[in-house]
Amino acid sequence: MVADQILQRGVSDPRILDAMKAIPRHMFVPYTRPKDAYGDGPLPIGQGQTISQPYITAYMTELLSVRPSHKVLEVGTGSGYQAALLSVLASKVYTMEIVATHYVRARKVLERLHLDNVRIRLGNGRDGWPEEAPFDRIIVTAAGAEVPEALLRQLKQGGRLIMPVGASALEQHLQIYRRSKDGIVKQDDLPVRFVPLVEGN
Ligand code: SAH
Repeated sequence: MVADQILQRGVSDPRILDAMKAIPRHMFVPYTRPKDAYGDGPLPIGQGQTISQPYITAYMTELLSVRPSHKVLEVGTGSGYQAALLSVLASKVYTMEIVATHYVRARKVLERLHLDNVRIRLGNGRDGWPEEAPFDRIIVTAAGAEVPEALLRQLKQGGRLIMPVGASALEQHLQIYRRSKDGIVKQDDLPVRFVPLVEGN
């Protein structure tokens, strides 16, 4: 998977490639035969949700540019696979999931792998995790028409947030938000297709 799908398409950061080799992706996809867990496409994780294609996960992780000292927030735990990769790359990972079944399963897998620097919370990720803010990096792995205000507020100065943004499922782009002392600067990246970030409460 790493050689054929990730490296060949241009993600070359050795820390990301090593993290992808270290994390057993098949443990995160219960409806898929282990050997199919390393294929080049999105996979179902139940409740109509999917885990992204490995390349997109790698690409977003590269855009996020995580350093070992970083505190990272992920919104949309899903299977927990992205959180597991981040746990290898960052100092602390906080991940939020709104669907209880995903939350329970992801928590178990992360525990079984002893990824002890990940904390997982059941709740609406639109509110972020104010008690642990600010974050060096924030990654949203579900799409919305705009970035939730609370998440931008919880981004550290010098920090970076990545989210698929678009008015409809057909017009999403990855967007990068950087906070400097003069404010937030936004940049458009690849077109993508993600499941929606639900409104919740
Ligand atoms: N990052 C995941 C894939 C995410 S799929 C992985 O590595 O497997 C998108 C996830 O976002 C789904 O599990 C969905 O339930 C969750 N989600 C959607 N809206 C949310 C919200 N408002 N708060 C938290 N999680 C949300």
